[in-house]
Amino acid sequence: MKSEFCLITKVLAVGLLLGGAALCQTAEQPSAAQGGISLYRKILAPKLNPSDVHGLRQVSIDREDLHISFSDGEIALLEGIDGHVTGAIFQGEGDVLLFPPNRAERTSLALFTKAAVLNQKFKTAYLRFFDDRLAEDLKRGFRPAANPQEFIDKWQTTMDSLARADSLSLLQAMTNSEEAASSFIHLRVGETALGVFDVFFDTSAAEQIAVAQIADNKDGPFYDTWTSFPMRSRRESGKATPSGNSVRVSDFRISSRITPPTNLAGEAELTVVARKSGARAVQMELSRYLKVTEVKLNDHAVEFIQNEAIEGSELARRGNDFVAVVLPAPLEKGRPARLTFRYSGPVMFDTGEEVMYVGNRGTWYPNPGPGFANFDLSFEYPSGWTLVATGKPVASTNQNGIQTARFVSDKPISHAGFNLGKFETAKSSAGGVVIDAYASKNVERALARTEANAGLHPEPAKQVQRITSEASATVSFLSNELDPFPYSHLEITQLPALLSQSWPGLIYLSSMAFLTPEERRALGVKDPYTELLLSELMLAHETAHQWWGDAVDWDSYRDQWIIEALANYSAVVMLERDHPERMKLVLDRYRDDLLRGTPNGPVSDAGPVTLGHRLTSSKFPQAFEPVLYGRGTWLIHMLRSMMREATGGQGDALFFGALKGLLAKSPNGKISTHDLQRAFEQVLPPALAYEGQKSLDWFFDSWINGASIPQFTLSDVRITPAGQQVKVRGVIQQAYADKNMVTAMPVYGVDKEGRSYFISLIFVDEPDQEFLLNAPAGTTSIVLDPQGSVLKR
Ligand SMILES: [Zn+2]
Repeated sequence: MKSEFCLITKVLAVGLLLGGAALCQTAEQPSAAQGGISLYRKILAPKLNPSDVHGLRQVSIDREDLHISFSDGEIALLEGIDGHVTGAIFQGEGDVLLFPPNRAERTSLALFTKAAVLNQKFKTAYLRFFDDRLAEDLKRGFRPAANPQEFIDKWQTTMDSLARADSLSLLQAMTNSEEAASSFIHLRVGETALGVFDVFFDTSAAEQIAVAQIADNKDGPFYDTWTSFPMRSRRESGKATPSGNSVRVSDFRISSRITPPTNLAGEAELTVVARKSGARAVQMELSRYLKVTEVKLNDHAVEFIQNEAIEGSELARRGNDFVAVVLPAPLEKGRPARLTFRYSGPVMFDTGEEVMYVGNRGTWYPNPGPGFANFDLSFEYPSGWTLVATGKPVASTNQNGIQTARFVSDKPISHAGFNLGKFETAKSSAGGVVIDAYASKNVERALARTEANAGLHPEPAKQVQRITSEASATVSFLSNELDPFPYSHLEITQLPALLSQSWPGLIYLSSMAFLTPEERRALGVKDPYTELLLSELMLAHETAHQWWGDAVDWDSYRDQWIIEALANYSAVVMLERDHPERMKLVLDRYRDDLLRGTPNGPVSDAGPVTLGHRLTSSKFPQAFEPVLYGRGTWLIHMLRSMMREATGGQGDALFFGALKGLLAKSPNGKISTHDLQRAFEQVLPPALAYEGQKSLDWFFDSWINGASIPQFTLSDVRITPAGQQVKVRGVIQQAYADKNMVTAMPVYGVDKEGRSYFISLIFVDEPDQEFLLNAPAGTTSIVLDPQGSVLKR
């Protein structure tokens, strides 16, 4: 019935920029209703217009917080696309001015530019935009040009080479209907004191204003985000732009045929619901290894564009690529539609020895990014293999060398995965939850070789019983302290890689965790923290992700730290139950990692946990883990310790009460840093009310949105008898702290037998904090934070 053609084409002469994008459209669709692909082609091939080259004087472009001015020079505009000018090149004198609206963003900008304000002169500017007002603004400064053709000859190549970077944003903006109208500007300026950098203004983004730079150094290319924030009108309205896609998916029905070692052929039917009316271009993520051959909307073929993610983009950071579907007409808000994708390719990673896995999360089926949905997964694969997937197994067959299996989620889940291997298995249970572990008789080729050289032959299958028992302890503990385990069962499968991942009801656990300590030593694992990580922390961390990350997920990139920190801290608390000294070892290690010196200062200077992926930058290539996981874990430890100390050491009831509140408070499954703060404020004991306010603003402003690791020392302590008690006076000196730092410092008394006991929390908010306390009689000296509750030098 359908006659379709799909061409792998290099549209531009400079084809390498396109990276072999597949532009596909159906032959029988009337082109009037379509046009998405032809529009995309025009966007990818911008032409400077010889009759639109001008001198330019005194033009200012003001968009919310952003000010761009062109004082004197020459400009060439692009030929119009569907009646819109979408870009220009400028050479002359100009400047760009931007004030980030808060301390964290000013600090971030200063890290890269040494100034808290962006105020830069430039001599060249590339502009790509969908903003008709911008072309009008420019027009007001036009003067006759000296030599139009010469200007065009000089700049056309630059225009070509930058076209791809903005193509999808422009396509989306240009295909939106009136009600979804958005404005997009990308300004890349050159010949500035800071080198070439990018300024973005995009009203459809969650943070509309951003400044960034490609930075190449010995650690590789980085895309440094200097600053990023919501524009003034959004900040003032208090209305956040929802992050994520213009559509969400309520149901996935995915059939996959798997041919080991690497191939997957799939058909995915997505029930999509538009979050807002008016968007025609819908973006899905999908691995570049899966080539899409067909996309249909309610049984009619539609146009699509499959492309690799642009380097430095959010998508590329997640290891994903995209498929953009251009619909013949916008989806109606709230009205479900059915999108079907067909695709195939070598998406599985063969690690040898009959164990394999799909690379990054979510990329094996098309999806519009994070969100909760129902999943119905069917698989077809050869006999002799075991397939484990998210959801409840509801049917399976095994005939003529082919097995089939179907898994259905028992409630909406955030993402779905599967794992395939020649596995042995073991079972245990915790409460009503069945826990199965699966492992093969072998480790991946890379590990096996090193082990064989040491005369060892590790067999992960021998460890399955141990793994299920350990997971069951974590499931019991967290089910008691938080909410019941979110799913009916938990499957743990060996992942032939150095990392582990958690999926709803399913954990991929690194082969490293299935080895014995001796086998790990043979691979070079020597230091006690790494051994602890692989032997205990990793499985508990991934198990805790069943609550933090799978039952609820982070809202924006600024909240990712909560998920990792809560999963990791849960694992640390598991360690502490039997071996308190191991918790200390872990926390000490995190602090040392944060204080480790680099050419740009200690790692902790990379910024606050709330910068998320932005912590990885050319200034601090290795800061993401120590800050997001390490400092994040410390911050949760501080919250817990404060709750205990503020209630006279009455255990963790308040702490887990707050976390339960956090789980309960997110009916949409998303949690933010703001939600975390509110959850702890709900249970806040009076001793933590700084300046009498039932608020944790002081902690979130200075510790969570700040990056300091202060140093505290006691001085001038005087202890004098006062009736049945003693009075203690003294000063706590604070160094290495941000100006607005506030810390609740636990002070302990020590008697002449050397016994120590908690006296009080003191808020330290000055370099020399004087204090006066009542302490029990017999107190001979005092100490600050002997339990290690505060992250400090
Ligand atoms: Zn994690």
